[in-house]
Amino acid sequence: GGALEVYDEIKRLIEERGLLAQVELYEEERGIGVKKSGCHGFCEAGPLVRIEPDQFLYLKVKREDCKEIVETTLIDGKPVERLMYHTSDKVYHVQEEIPFYKSQTRLVLEHCGHIDSESIQEYIAYGGYQALAKAMDTMTPSEVCKEISDAGLRGRGGGGYPTGKKWSQVLSYASDMKYVICNGDEGDPGAFMDRSLMEGDPHNIIEGMAIAAYGTGASEGYIYVRAEYPLAVARLNKAIEQAREIGLLGKNILGTGLNFDVHVNQGAGAFVCGEGSALIASIEGERGMPRVKAKRTVEEGLWKKPTVLNNVETFANVRHIIMNGAAWYQSYGTKGSAGTKAFALTGNVNNTGLIEVPMGTTLRKIIFEIGGGIRGNKKFKAVQIGGPSGGCLTEEHLDMALDFDSLIDAGAMIGSGGMVIMDEDTCMVEVAKFFMNFTQNESCGKCVPCREGTKIMLNILEKIVSGKGSMEDLNLLEELSDTITNTALCGLGKTAANPVVSSLKYFRDEYLAHVVEKR
Ligand code: SF4
Repeated sequence: GGALEVYDEIKRLIEERGLLAQVELYEEERGIGVKKSGCHGFCEAGPLVRIEPDQFLYLKVKREDCKEIVETTLIDGKPVERLMYHTSDKVYHVQEEIPFYKSQTRLVLEHCGHIDSESIQEYIAYGGYQALAKAMDTMTPSEVCKEISDAGLRGRGGGGYPTGKKWSQVLSYASDMKYVICNGDEGDPGAFMDRSLMEGDPHNIIEGMAIAAYGTGASEGYIYVRAEYPLAVARLNKAIEQAREIGLLGKNILGTGLNFDVHVNQGAGAFVCGEGSALIASIEGERGMPRVKAKRTVEEGLWKKPTVLNNVETFANVRHIIMNGAAWYQSYGTKGSAGTKAFALTGNVNNTGLIEVPMGTTLRKIIFEIGGGIRGNKKFKAVQIGGPSGGCLTEEHLDMALDFDSLIDAGAMIGSGGMVIMDEDTCMVEVAKFFMNFTQNESCGKCVPCREGTKIMLNILEKIVSGKGSMEDLNLLEELSDTITNTALCGLGKTAANPVVSSLKYFRDEYLAHVVEKR
């Protein structure tokens, strides 16, 4: 997006004036430091430049703006207001005051956009690896599992299974080998939360995995990342090397006797490899297809050994819980869904980007406060939440508190956190067709209901959209939805019909209009 060009130009201009600091920013030294960070989240307004310590945020910065930033702000200490977020009557000088940021609670994203994600020193300077030290120094493995359980942390990959319960189960199995796997195979259209976390704060993920290893007795970890995320792969590999160099990974970590090392495993871009058993098959060198599981992953996971499998955002929460305690964590979110949730806000909304809010935040707040409302002053119609496995929510859900359970009750699911906002001009049958096309392409073909069923559903949707559908097609669509949901082998198939089911529930008139128009 031009950010590297801006970085190079600002650095060149500072250097040209003899002002470039020769040390990292956190050390006291005269001069001006310039660094690259992970994503600030405000994608709509990038490339972004943040000025410390003033907390100024400059938006949509171009190479030609850099001279003014250096001379006016870095040398004279004054803001360049034309580059700041503004409304008709106000210019926002401080980043945290901008409505997009003000209504957020950034726990897992706290470092993203603020620290140099390629520097372990900087991570440590901001409190990194203290939670691992605290866990190993002051807690037993079962106390670690209990703390995570008491905090009420639920898996952020979509299922919402209690993380502490999973860890306790792995701890309870005696085995010569146990594994920790981090699922970074984010593949939903419109989702990029895990990518930003891996790129912007890779040590946080590694620290969460190391705490899981200590809590469960595991000694080897894998981060499964899709190969389409090359920057995430590079930064994770660098972070692992740095942690190994100073004894935070490897044998006898910090002299405690704990052995734990992490490897990055690149996935080849199959959406189905985000499913646990397919992901494990892929790491084992097999074709990434779901397996029928006689036993759960906590007992027989990778190479049939007890395995913790959590997603990126889940591990990113662990450090906070260990440092601040379960009660503190429970103070965020709702009764059954503690903590915060990162969402990728995309579609017909003014401020697209990566956001984090406490569980229980309403859609209205997300779309109209943080997201700045619907683009072009159009009317809100629906939001597809949870990607192709999720469903749509409508105007009647705007004031509903979003959490794991409320979404399931409404016929959607939190999924990994993709949120696609749609305006009044969107055809919901087209949306259902888009997601069915995606799922059909990604079906691994192992079982008939998913392989054949999604294909037939896609054909029917295409027929309806082109005005050739009939009422019988609508009935068949419903019948197939039911059959596939109940008979497919894995989560991909079981949830494939969700976008159709929820759009039929809330926008049946649109399906009927297509059918009626034909007549
Ligand atoms: Fe493969 Fe679909 Fe069956 Fe899952 S449900 S195993 S993706 S064919």
